[in-house]
Amino acid sequence: MVNRTKKLLLKTAAVIIENKEYLTELDAAIGDGDHGINLARGFKKLKEKLEKENFEGRDELFKLTAMTLISNVGGASGPLYGTAFLNISKVISDNKLDLDDLVEIAEESIAGIQKRGKAEAGEKTMLDTIIPAAESLKHSRANKVDLETALNNCLEKAAEGMKSTIEMQATKGRASYLGERSIGHQDPGATSSYLMIKTFIKSYLN
Ligand code: ADP
Ligand code: MG
Repeated sequence: MVNRTKKLLLKTAAVIIENKEYLTELDAAIGDGDHGINLARGFKKLKEKLEKENFEGRDELFKLTAMTLISNVGGASGPLYGTAFLNISKVISDNKLDLDDLVEIAEESIAGIQKRGKAEAGEKTMLDTIIPAAESLKHSRANKVDLETALNNCLEKAAEGMKSTIEMQATKGRASYLGERSIGHQDPGATSSYLMIKTFIKSYLN
């Protein structure tokens, strides 16, 4: 389990590094054009640490991810993602994850991001991808949907959430300085969150 999770985090790092330019372009339109650069810096550091060290449990892996992102990403997104991963490290076990566990992980991520950033749904941030993804998992749990279908539905809702930021006006973060001119652009943080969720789900289903 620990090795699989390490592989998952290495894959996440690779995906973020591959999408560095794309995320930076999105941030250039409504922010300061550093989101891809910031995240790629943090995930490159994480990759180096993951390759060097050995880990006893998943909690250690997520804690390392949190600390590495907090100290190396910078910008608004570093502490926000860092706190999300830190909260995950507090609840994750080494057992096979079921839908209850996934709901808890999603809710803890949101709680971490909101503790730091005080944003709600609809403010054109990473939460507009993550909240619909979490809601979808909760809906699946309530309706006793099988895990594979639940994850596929969750990914679909995350994608819809990411795209829904195009029409939103930013009211948090740097993009909010643009007021109405932030409308018409996809949020960079909502996009990086989607890429991470997609990587987690694809690797879980593999
Ligand atoms: P900065 O804006 O400091 O340059 P980044 O470019 O790395 O930081 O990250 C920008 C992203 O951070 C935005 O696209 C948005 O999704 C996210 N973000 C900014 N402020 C908040 C907040 N208060 N809550 C949640 N997400 C936020
Ligand atoms: Mg930026």
